[in-house]
Amino acid sequence: LFITLEGMDGSGKSTQINLLEAYFKSRGAEVVLTREPGGTVIGEEIRSMLLNREYAEMAETTEALLYAASRAQLVEEVVRPALAEGKMVICDRFLDSSLAYQGIARELGVERVVSINDFALEGLRPDLTIFLDLQAEEGLKRKKDQKDLDRMEMEKVDFHRKVSDAYRFLARQDSARILQLDASQDQEEIHKAIVERIRKTFTD
Ligand code: C5P
Repeated sequence: LFITLEGMDGSGKSTQINLLEAYFKSRGAEVVLTREPGGTVIGEEIRSMLLNREYAEMAETTEALLYAASRAQLVEEVVRPALAEGKMVICDRFLDSSLAYQGIARELGVERVVSINDFALEGLRPDLTIFLDLQAEEGLKRKKDQKDLDRMEMEKVDFHRKVSDAYRFLARQDSARILQLDASQDQEEIHKAIVERIRKTFTD
């Protein structure tokens, strides 16, 4: 099973990933946790380029291709082999991040971003995607130390608002795969809702 978590920075993705890992492990599953951009040596190098504050001149198309490149490496090196061995793969961000950030918020177009990712992923899609929906202002507030902001996080509230709207749009388009949950709820409640969906979709 391949599960991805999506949402704004500060929406609680990491907490839910840890809760999910514990849930699957308690049921005897082997779990592989990963993240993107990154998750491989090559991917982490791409990540540091993407987040480098000095690269203000990075073209939007370059940005989209670098995300897709990091994702291609992750799929080839980590995700496909783990799935082939019957392991659970949980990934912090995946294709929908690119559709929301680069496709919609940066206005490159969903179709164009899908097409470069089709090349990178060769058709691989998550079995389930959890979208933790948080108001943009709330997400930024949760990132306390402004000095540590990376290139992406320096974007204005307006951009973050576009991203959350984009995620909501994507969730409406593909509600069979994307489960949208209110991220301001209690973490345990969110975890319960995720587990319930997993049980319904994959064990019934
Ligand atoms: O989730 P994480 O903190 O690892 O993401 C790194 C940064 O990259 C975040 O600030 C996120 O907003 C941004 N990002 C992006 N486009 C993507 C994926 C992440 O702008 N496709």
